[in-house]
Amino acid sequence: MAAQIIDGKKVAAEVRAEVRMGVDLRREQGKRPPGIAVILIGDDPASNVYVNHKRRACDEVGIMSRSYDLPASTTQFELLKIVDELNADPVIDGILIQLPLPSHIDDSLVIERIDPGKDVDGFHPTNVGKLALRIPALRPCTPFGVIKLIESTGQVCKGKHVVVVGASNIVGRPMALELLLRGATVTVCHRFSADSAALSRQADIVIAAAGKPGLITADWVRPGATVLDVGINRLDTGKLVGDVDFASVSEKAAWISPVPGGVGPMTVAMLMMNTLRACEKHQL
Ligand code: NAD
Repeated sequence: MAAQIIDGKKVAAEVRAEVRMGVDLRREQGKRPPGIAVILIGDDPASNVYVNHKRRACDEVGIMSRSYDLPASTTQFELLKIVDELNADPVIDGILIQLPLPSHIDDSLVIERIDPGKDVDGFHPTNVGKLALRIPALRPCTPFGVIKLIESTGQVCKGKHVVVVGASNIVGRPMALELLLRGATVTVCHRFSADSAALSRQADIVIAAAGKPGLITADWVRPGATVLDVGINRLDTGKLVGDVDFASVSEKAAWISPVPGGVGPMTVAMLMMNTLRACEKHQL
């Protein structure tokens, strides 16, 4: 039987509508709208696309977005100076630095320079640490979006065995922390795992975040499992695909998120939600 589709576009639209209501309420109360600074360095085509999605989403929900489109030659010193200025700017609640940064800039150093209260991506060690300690503050957008998608199917994570394929700082690791927070039993696979397919076959829920097109085939999935595909891979043909072989897995899973139209829109929606939350914390 074919799997039911987890419609990320629909769930993301609901989250954006909730943010829009929060922003409108602020306006009615005579408060300023939330503000975000979006920093893009260089001219990576994929980064350009992501940043445009984020800016469009800001317009839609009424968040003020300020663009910093900087040349690839921008130095680390210059970038840190901008971050310092934005940290001190009272109308900026969120600072988003589109990754990856050019190789002459140290990502970790720049992320650590952001005020954790303005870290709307949820990448700062303080925010990741708080998530690990079960006192979440600003949460990493993609993992939080995946949780919302799982919940949109009517399932709870509590007690489920979830296999996360991928262990990066921005997806796999915080994903595991979000799942633990919700009482799931979590297995994290990575490139050194001996047999990721065998582990994945034991899962109630599989979350694919390896950045490998078609890695998760039907052989990785137990009948009736839920499969979420975080992967975004552009093939030489220009086609956008996930890490999951959608055709075969959708014949075996009970629920599956497509690419595009699955996790991607949720990441942007959760960024909007984080910006509103950061703003409400500032109370200005
Ligand atoms: P990454 O390259 O930093 O990490 C990939 C992880 O997968 C690593 O931990 C690696 O060990 C693991 N891995 C690689 N091959 C594997 C294999 N055969 N078996 C098991 N584990 C394996 O990538 P990332 O930044 O975490 O991104 C992962 C994917 O998610 C990419 O396609 C990226 O474009 C996408 N992504 C999507 C969103 C979204 O909003 N949907 C957001 C961020 C990243």
